[in-house]
Amino acid sequence: MPQIKEIFIYSDFPSRSLSIQKIIDYLKDYGLNAHDRGNFLEFLDPTKEETLELASRIGGMRVLDISEPIDEIRAPFFGEINVELERLRGKASSIGVLYDGLWLQRVLYKIMAEKFPNNFRSGFIHIIFTSRLFVTFEKRRYHARVVLTGLPSLISTSGIVEAPAKPKEYYWVKAGFIRSGKDIRELDIMYKGKFIEYDDERITEILRAYALQAIFYELTGDPFCVNPTCCLFNSHWQEEVLKTQLEGKLCEEHRL
Ligand SMILES: [Zn+2]
Repeated sequence: MPQIKEIFIYSDFPSRSLSIQKIIDYLKDYGLNAHDRGNFLEFLDPTKEETLELASRIGGMRVLDISEPIDEIRAPFFGEINVELERLRGKASSIGVLYDGLWLQRVLYKIMAEKFPNNFRSGFIHIIFTSRLFVTFEKRRYHARVVLTGLPSLISTSGIVEAPAKPKEYYWVKAGFIRSGKDIRELDIMYKGKFIEYDDERITEILRAYALQAIFYELTGDPFCVNPTCCLFNSHWQEEVLKTQLEGKLCEEHRL
C-alpha cells in the first residue's frame, strides 16, 4: 500500500455550510494529516494569462447537451471567459451549470502540477471542494457526480444535492404538482430533511465520507466498498447517503 505523505485541501466556493476545518478534524480522527490550502485559485496565484487560459478552458467544457460527450474543449463563446473569471473569483454563481468532470480534472491537474511539481507525486493527495456541478458521460448521457477521485480529487457540494436520486415517489408527486399547477416549493416542505439541500447543515459530515473515498482511491486504487454500512459504499440514492455517508463509519476491512 502506498504511504500518504500529505493531504492538501482546497476550496472553490463550496456550500457555506461546509467546514473544511471540521473535515480536517475528522480526518485527524482517522490518523490522517490534512492541510487547508484555502481557495485554490489564490493558492495557485496564476499570472493574468494563466487565469484567462483557465477561465477559457473551463468555459469550453460546459456541457450544453447532456447526450453529447465532449471530446475536445471548444473555443469559448463571446463573454464566456468573463463569466468564468467571475466564477473563479466567487463573484458569480455556477448553480445550474454543468461541467465535464474529467476535463475539469485534467485542466486543473495541468495547472496545479506545473506550479507544484513536487506535490504531484505518489503519496500526495489533493482534494478540491467546489460548488461546481460536474458530470461524467456514461450510458449515452452525462450524469451528475459527487466525487471524482484522482489528481486532484474533486468533491462537489452541488453534486451531493443533485447526483444521488430521490425516491421514485418524489418524482411522481412532483409531476402531479406541476400538472395541477401547484407551487413546487411546497414539495420541499413535504420532504424537508429527507434530501440534502444546498446549504444543508449535514453537508460537512456527509462529505467527509467522500474525502475518505478520495483517500482510499490513492491508497488502494478503489474508492468504493460493497458493504452498504461502510461510508465508502457507492450510494446512488439520497436515502443511502443520509444513512451510510452521514453516519461516516468504515467497515472492518477499511478501518484505518
Ligand atoms: Zn468498507
